[in-house]
Amino acid sequence: MLSWPTHLSLQNYGWILRRFRDHFRMKSTFARGLFGATLLVVCCTVFVAFGQRSPVVESKPNKRPRLVVLIVVDQFRYDYLTRFGDLFTSRGIGRLMRDGANWTEANYDHIPTYTAPGHATFMTGAWPSETGIVGNDWFDPDAGKKVTSVTDDATLMLGGRPDQKGKSPRRLLCSTVGDELRLTDNDRSKVIGISAKDRSAILPAGRHANAAYWFNTDNGNMVSSNYYFSEVPRWVANFNSSRMVDKWFGARWDRLLPSEDEYLKRAGKDDVPWENLDKSSKDTNAFPHVITGGASAPSRAFYRALDYTPFSNDLLVAFAKEAITNERLGADDDTDLLSVSFSANDYIGHRFGPYSQEAMDISLRVDRQIGSLLDFIDARVGLANTIVVFSADHGVSPVPEQAALMNLPARRPSKDELLKLVQDGLRARYARKDRPADDYLRTFGSEAGLINNNFYLNRTALARDGIDLDECENVVGEAAMRMPGVSRYFTRAQLEKSPPPMSDAVARRVHHGFNPKRSGDVIIVLEPYNILFTLPDDPTDSRLTTTHGSGYSYDTHVPLIIMGKGFAAGNYAQAASPADIAASLANALNIQSPSCSVGRILTEGFVQTNGRRPRPAR
Ligand SMILES: [Zn+2]
Repeated sequence: MLSWPTHLSLQNYGWILRRFRDHFRMKSTFARGLFGATLLVVCCTVFVAFGQRSPVVESKPNKRPRLVVLIVVDQFRYDYLTRFGDLFTSRGIGRLMRDGANWTEANYDHIPTYTAPGHATFMTGAWPSETGIVGNDWFDPDAGKKVTSVTDDATLMLGGRPDQKGKSPRRLLCSTVGDELRLTDNDRSKVIGISAKDRSAILPAGRHANAAYWFNTDNGNMVSSNYYFSEVPRWVANFNSSRMVDKWFGARWDRLLPSEDEYLKRAGKDDVPWENLDKSSKDTNAFPHVITGGASAPSRAFYRALDYTPFSNDLLVAFAKEAITNERLGADDDTDLLSVSFSANDYIGHRFGPYSQEAMDISLRVDRQIGSLLDFIDARVGLANTIVVFSADHGVSPVPEQAALMNLPARRPSKDELLKLVQDGLRARYARKDRPADDYLRTFGSEAGLINNNFYLNRTALARDGIDLDECENVVGEAAMRMPGVSRYFTRAQLEKSPPPMSDAVARRVHHGFNPKRSGDVIIVLEPYNILFTLPDDPTDSRLTTTHGSGYSYDTHVPLIIMGKGFAAGNYAQAASPADIAASLANALNIQSPSCSVGRILTEGFVQTNGRRPRPAR
């Protein structure tokens, strides 16, 4: 039964429309009839209200939760919940699955599914087209070079080398939930982002965050930038001087479970040929992994190796607890926001693949690590005063060699071959004696003009030779189509002037990932299970065993769980997306939605205002 406000004023019309929209989907005729009748009554009341002075609406300020915690596990596919969920504890991810509202069909609706775009989406509720975070890196025409999502030469790193350039959220074009909280309460809310990766710490926190901290593999410090403050707080300096990080030098990463049986059953053999480790690391492809990075003492090589182990997640948990204590997060009624993104799962997934024993083990371990963090929050703030959001920035493709063995259409198209085909295509169409047409693709230093499956054309060269940009885009696209594994292409002209129909899911995702100022001129899409691949110069270097970035389910389908006041435990099979988190949080927190938010409010997972829980999703 719907509950209507006793007084109606003009402000209520939006509310009525939202209710109308939410309830229009009701399945039973009875419910529809009842709704129709209620709507009629409301319309009459509204009509009468027009002729009267609006009575003052007495509204009690909604008490907000004290703390919002966003927990991201980098590259954590949705199916890790179903493959390993029964092995999770009742404190960590297992607790979230039991006590949270769990959207089982949450997919990204953008391409490319990379770390920075995903992390920019959680708290803005927007696609890369609006956030501007179109990749981990892209070509910036203003800077005349390739930039990362958080590169900022105007800042300095705090905790790194004295002259080391810092990072900042300046390339993020939208506000976040944290920004809106701080706007709402005159900056009393505290917003902090933590991760091993700079982009994963900075982007969810947002432009007006108090701080972001990430792991610096140069010296093993948790660092920040002078974008936030002129020096890091004392507790951060103390944390770094404790050298906790160095205690993992020479640490042995073995399987968490005492027997290998569960691993063999769920992930297969440990030592398989497609896992290909950097030979210089002195590590092996199989358990146990001994973590030194090939060094004889803690050093850069060791800190880099640490990223590929569960111990870097332990470091983040310890640091997050220090942040909660020292910044007094959740200590008062002004809602604070803490974002913690665990990166080790991504590094390990890239190296060993999603069906490896290592991926299984790090999933079991991150459950325990999250459990430790949630227990700590429960003791200090109370989970009853906290909303916890759990999600991932993307999934990952199976290792092509492994998938091919199972007769899936998997392949590793070579990036160099693709570039050659496109260069040949451009020459065949445009080259003349006085016009070699060999600089039509942009290059970035030594790198040819292909980033994130986006080809960037050299406008200056095209203008010099009188080449039509739109036509040239099609020449590039058609040449790329000759490459086995390339399935489609989209041109800038097409995306800007006649966007493809939204019913075409691949096209929609490309469109959501396209920002006219930052994306390339031709975007190619690969067939499922195909990953574009560059051979390392040194054959002993590690190659990317597998990766992500596509619009296919293995890359787009991620967990989305919200646990806390206002959310009803249960599984919800309605289509959802991490872009829905921001609008849902804004609604639960009773604050303005972030500036670019396009996600829907996940009402099916809300506790209804009359105290009754909604029916479980069918
Ligand atoms: Zn990632």
